[in-house]
Amino acid sequence: MAIYNYLEDLIQVKIQQILSNKNNVCKCDKCLSDMLAYAINGLPVISYVTSDGGIHREVQNLTNDNLKIELATRCVKAVDLVGKNPKHKK
Ligand SMILES: [Zn+2]
Repeated sequence: MAIYNYLEDLIQVKIQQILSNKNNVCKCDKCLSDMLAYAINGLPVISYVTSDGGIHREVQNLTNDNLKIELATRCVKAVDLVGKNPKHKK
């Protein structure tokens, strides 16, 4: 789904920006995907099943500035949370 990928791209860029200012946070692939998953899960994306059985995801108010703020807030939280609690051994 194009919208979903678009959001993922935005989040990835945002997370990289946040990480570039943090030297003490793990930046391995595992942590990065955890951060991405955390950030994207909290966003107001509605999923529904289409008439042909496919799953369609739509972002509410994609052009709304509130979503961009929400996205940035989510990314900061995701980096903070995963950075403090990496799922692997240090
Ligand atoms: Zn890591």
